Amino acid sequence: MSKVYQGISASTGLAIGPVWLYRPATIQIVRKNNCDPSIEWQRCQSALAKANEQLEQLHQRTSETIGAAEAEIFEAHQMILSDPDFLETIQTNLNTQTYNAEIAIQDSVNTYANMLLALDSTYFQERAQDVLDIGHRLIHILMGVPTDSFELPEKPVIILAEDLSPSDTVQFPRNKILGICTQKGGPTSHTAILSRSLGVPAAVSVPFDWETIQNGQMAILDGAVGSLLLNPSPDQQKTANQRQTAQQTEWEHLLKHAAEPANTSDGKTIEVVANIGSADDARHALTLGAEGVGLLRTEFLYLNRESMPTEAEQTQVYREIFEIMGNRPVVVRTLDIGGDKAVPYIGFEEEANPFLGWRAIRMADNQPDLLRIQFRALLRAASAETDLRIMIPMISNADEIKMARNLLNQAKQELQNEKIDTPETVQFGIMVEIPAAAIQARELADLVDFFSIGTNDLTQYALAVDRTNERVAHLASPFHPAVLRLIRMTIEGAHVKGKWVGLCGEMAGDPLAAPVLLGLGLDEFSMAASSIPGLKETIRQLDSQQCKDVANTVCELLTAQDVKAYLQKLL
Ligand code: PEP
Ligand code: MG
Repeated sequence: MSKVYQGISASTGLAIGPVWLYRPATIQIVRKNNCDPSIEWQRCQSALAKANEQLEQLHQRTSETIGAAEAEIFEAHQMILSDPDFLETIQTNLNTQTYNAEIAIQDSVNTYANMLLALDSTYFQERAQDVLDIGHRLIHILMGVPTDSFELPEKPVIILAEDLSPSDTVQFPRNKILGICTQKGGPTSHTAILSRSLGVPAAVSVPFDWETIQNGQMAILDGAVGSLLLNPSPDQQKTANQRQTAQQTEWEHLLKHAAEPANTSDGKTIEVVANIGSADDARHALTLGAEGVGLLRTEFLYLNRESMPTEAEQTQVYREIFEIMGNRPVVVRTLDIGGDKAVPYIGFEEEANPFLGWRAIRMADNQPDLLRIQFRALLRAASAETDLRIMIPMISNADEIKMARNLLNQAKQELQNEKIDTPETVQFGIMVEIPAAAIQARELADLVDFFSIGTNDLTQYALAVDRTNERVAHLASPFHPAVLRLIRMTIEGAHVKGKWVGLCGEMAGDPLAAPVLLGLGLDEFSMAASSIPGLKETIRQLDSQQCKDVANTVCELLTAQDVKAYLQKLL
C-alpha cells in the first residue's frame, strides 16, 4: 500500500527510485577470554591498516567534492591511528587481559577518550569524539561490518536518515544519490543548505517510520513540496516519470538561457549571483549562469580541522576563487561561526542558546585577530581585477560596524607598511539578519556601501523560530508579512542613502518570492547555483512596475499562508 509522509521542502526536483536507510550500524561486541595476544595483535594491525586506507579514501573524496579544509578531519583521525600511546595501550591490554582484539580496542578507546573528556578544555573534549569514532571504525572492520555510509548499493538510491551532518553528506558519492530525506532539520539548517548545493532533491522534517520501511522499497521524493511517497502505485509512478521527463526538458531549456541576463519584461536588468563555499562551487556556479558571488561562506574553511587556517592558507583559497570569478563581483562574508557551526579550537563554550550567543562578529570583541587576519588574507588575495566586497554577518548595532571597519583599515595599513599590494577599492557591507539592523537600516546605511539581507536568520530572529528545530520548522516562513516588512524597511533605508541591497537567504532562489522582492526594489539576488537558471527565467516574465503593487499588497496581508496563496495564484 502506498503511503505519503509530508515534510518540508529543502531542495526542489523529483527523485524516483529505491530507498536506502542510512542508519549507522550498532553492533554487539562479544567478549572472548584466553585469546592468543600475538594473533589478536595481528588482527589489530590489519584493522589499523584497513582503517588507514578507508580514511585516505575519505580524505581524497572529501577534498575533491567539498574542499581541502573539510577533508582534514580524516587526516586527524589517521594521526590518532598511529599515536604510539594509543597503540601501546591496546597492546598492553591484549597482553595482560588476554581477551579479543575488539574488547581490547573498545577498552583502550574508552580509557583514552575518558582521559580527554576529563581535561578542562573544549578542544580536548571534542577530540574525545574523534577517538571514539576511530574505535567505532576499527571494531566495525574487525567484525566485518561496513563502517561508512558511502558503501551505498550499486544503483542510485533515495537516502532516508534521521539526520545528516555535513560530514555524513560529503561521504555519499553524488552519482549514487537520487534524493535525500531526513526526519530532522529545518529547510535553512546548514545540513539542508549543503544538500541543496549538491543539487539533489531533498526534504527535511519528514516523519517517516523506520519500522515499516525496508531498503530497496520504491519511493517518490518530491523535493519541491517536501513529500515522500512510499510504494507508489504503477499509475503514480507513471505520472511521476512523466513529470520528471518534463522537468528534465524544462531544465535543458533553462540551461540554454542561463548565461543570458535576467531582464524583466519592462527592461530592468536584475543581478543574479551565487552563494558558494569553495572554489569548486565557484566553477559550478559559472556554468549555471552566475554573474558573480553574492555570498562566499568562509566558515567552511574553518570547519572540520584542528587549528585556525593561517593567513597564507586563507590567501591561497580566496585567491583561487577570485581568479575563477575574474572581474565579476565577489561578496565575501567574514567568519560566521557559532549557532549550528561550532569550531573547537576557537574556544566555544556550552551555551543554552547558541543562536543568540557568542557568534560571528561578536567573537571579534575578544578575538579581534580572527577578523584582522581574515581581512589581511582577503586583501592580499585580491588582484587589481577583483571586484571584492566584504560583508560582516550578525550585525545588531552600529558599534560592531565601526569596530569591523577599523580592523579592515588596520589590516590595510599593515599591508601597506609591509609593501604588499592591496586593492584600490573594496566595498564594505553588512548582513541584515537581525531585526534590529533592519529597523535601523536608514541609520546603518550611512556606515556601509551595501546591505545583504540574510532571510534565513532574519526569519529565525523575527519569528523566534530555531532554524534547526523540526518541531517548529513549519513556523519559519520568510513569507510572514512581518519578515516582508523588515525586508521592505531594509531596502527603503538603504535606497534613501543611495546604497544597494542584495538578499542571500534561501528565499532569493524561490520563484514564488521573486515578484515580491523585485517589487520591493531588491538590487541583487544571491542563491544556490542550481536555482539560478530557473530564477532568471521567472524574472524575465515579471514586470517590475506590476511587482510594486504585488509587494504593497502582500505586506498588508495577515499570514504567511495568505501571502503564499496570493502569490501562487499570481504565478
Ligand atoms: C542567512 O542567514 O540568511 C544567511 C544567508 O546566512 P546563513 O544561512 O549562512 O546563516
Ligand atoms: Mg545567517
